[in-house]
Amino acid sequence: MFTPATTLSETEAAASGPWYVFDNRGSLLLVAGAVPVGDAPPCPLVDVHVLGSDDGAPVRTARIAPDADPFDDVPEGGEFVNMRAAYGVIPDVEWAMAGRGSQVLLWDRDHQFCGRCGTQTTAHESERAKVCPACKAMAFPRLSPAVIMLVEREGEDGPEVLLAWGRQFPGRFYSALAGFVEPGESLEECVVREVLEETGIEVKDVRYFGSQPWPFPNSMMIGFTATWAGGEISIQEEEIVEAGWYGPDNLPPSPIGGMSIAGWLIEDWLTRVKN
Ligand SMILES: [Zn+2]
Repeated sequence: MFTPATTLSETEAAASGPWYVFDNRGSLLLVAGAVPVGDAPPCPLVDVHVLGSDDGAPVRTARIAPDADPFDDVPEGGEFVNMRAAYGVIPDVEWAMAGRGSQVLLWDRDHQFCGRCGTQTTAHESERAKVCPACKAMAFPRLSPAVIMLVEREGEDGPEVLLAWGRQFPGRFYSALAGFVEPGESLEECVVREVLEETGIEVKDVRYFGSQPWPFPNSMMIGFTATWAGGEISIQEEEIVEAGWYGPDNLPPSPIGGMSIAGWLIEDWLTRVKN
């Protein structure tokens, strides 16, 4: 079982374990399609962080040293793979661990100096935190909570869901609505506000579905289902290209299952309405 930690015992430190190594673009080192494992680093490293231990095996993340060659200084068969492309290539549990590593590295890089007084920070001795030696401010890895919700209704021809083509999507692609939580707002309030802002639809029966750490770069996606309560679709054009109600047999290009909670929400709905 994996246990998160920031330091290793002497025995653990000497044992063999996986190395989650990233380049400067956030791509993950795979060697012959797998996360490299060993008791020594697979290539010259900087910013080495302990993520924890897995049944005594150390789990570490790091960046390849800036002066190392990403081709010649990695083991034979090694290449840096974009995190999205690595999904399905390595086991899901390792993909999630890589996401954990990328977020720790990002936090490390972005908190070299105190945000309050500008003094160089130091690592906390036992917690995953940066401490300012001058003003004592602490910085923990930042998570940005976002809600993602699938709105359902009973249409004239049967069950339907509200899906939208987001402006930031790479192509014509429809998914559940989502948005970042604002300070002072509950998750449920955020669901109601985001659906109304983006599509003009009012919802009720907001229910928790599940959550997913989303390391692009540091989101925590919190999934909900909700039911249509009123209103006609009127899209917020800065965010949405098109939105509509879709039945299980006329879905537009959408994620179903797969790597994201959006796909899990849609798959769950399909399973429910088709049975
Ligand atoms: Zn400070």
